[in-house]
Amino acid sequence: MKPVQVECKNIELAYGATQVLKGITLTIAPGEFFALLGPSGSGKSTLLRLIAGFNFAQSGQLMVDGADITRVPPWQRNIGMVFQNYALWPHMTVEKNVAFGLEERKLPRAEIVRKVKDVLALVGLTDFAQRRPNQLSGGQQQRVALARTLAVEPKVLLLDEPLSNLDAKLRVQMRQELKSLQRRLGITTIFVTHDQEEALTTCDRIAVMDQGVIQQIGTPMELYDLPVNRFVANFVGTINFIEGEIEHAQSGSTFSSTLLGKISLPETTLDHSSKRVALALRPHTIRISADNAAPADATSHNINVPGNILEREFLGEFVRYRIDANGTELIVDQSHQPGSEIFATGRNVTLGISAHALRLVA
Ligand code: ADP
Repeated sequence: MKPVQVECKNIELAYGATQVLKGITLTIAPGEFFALLGPSGSGKSTLLRLIAGFNFAQSGQLMVDGADITRVPPWQRNIGMVFQNYALWPHMTVEKNVAFGLEERKLPRAEIVRKVKDVLALVGLTDFAQRRPNQLSGGQQQRVALARTLAVEPKVLLLDEPLSNLDAKLRVQMRQELKSLQRRLGITTIFVTHDQEEALTTCDRIAVMDQGVIQQIGTPMELYDLPVNRFVANFVGTINFIEGEIEHAQSGSTFSSTLLGKISLPETTLDHSSKRVALALRPHTIRISADNAAPADATSHNINVPGNILEREFLGEFVRYRIDANGTELIVDQSHQPGSEIFATGRNVTLGISAHALRLVA
């Protein structure tokens, strides 16, 4: 089947006086694996259910493959949804669960048998066809739910927190399986999750939502490296903010803060006109050295500031420090290898900050 485009145009949805979706506009490319990422209550599931046809917008348009389906009932949309709790029939075998949607559609018996066989092979459950859901692991139940949805060959696949009922290890395995299955099928897929790692690792592009508003749409790397505001910077990965004021002059812009003093900004970060700004800085871009490091040369893009170690956590691959730097608290991650230096709590250190790692956010 040819992959389809999904388009939301200025969608507004309210429950009573509560506006839940505010001006949602996005275009999902044919065959794309797209995530809706945001904290609980940000409106992700409401938007997903709206695409499925279980919720209706007060205004705006939903287009699939160029056709307006805003008022089309769910059963005429040919959009498949996998629910968080799988919603399998406990009294039916795997085979029957998967055949259910096909029987509803009154397909010929031979065709149902063939499709069930194919889709069970696709998710690797051929040998489990006669089991009931309670005789399967969480990951296998998840695959049955997926097989049941895929059996009816939907144009669009919707996944509502599909991995949240699995334990940490299985979640990682299943997200890889999901990604490779999506790639093989090439079906336009929308994945709802509150877990940024899950979204970053599996999806082509992500819409970050907060309070019913899309904050930013981008590839995982764009969201991580070039967040447009504090919310995105904070939600996608761990971040430090250095509060300050910006001044624009003909010769360039300068940023003044208690921590860094007055610094000129590299051009790459200059895309905001607001005065109340912060510099965002990822923990692993800061270097810690012993407290007698030389002050940075004013012409280089490295800034050295003094710090005092408040706390440290050993995480194996890296050590995470909480550091007081002239009254600003910073999180700093240092990669760890056998024999690398560990700084003790209370120790005075020098922090090396590269101006290229700084990102101006409004
Ligand atoms: P998310 O999926 O991001 O956790 P939801 O889309 O489930 O968020 O919910 C968004 C907001 O809409 C929440 O504040 C929630 O309380 C509210 N909400 C969701 N469903 C209903 C409903 N049926 N009636 C009233 N409010 C609802």
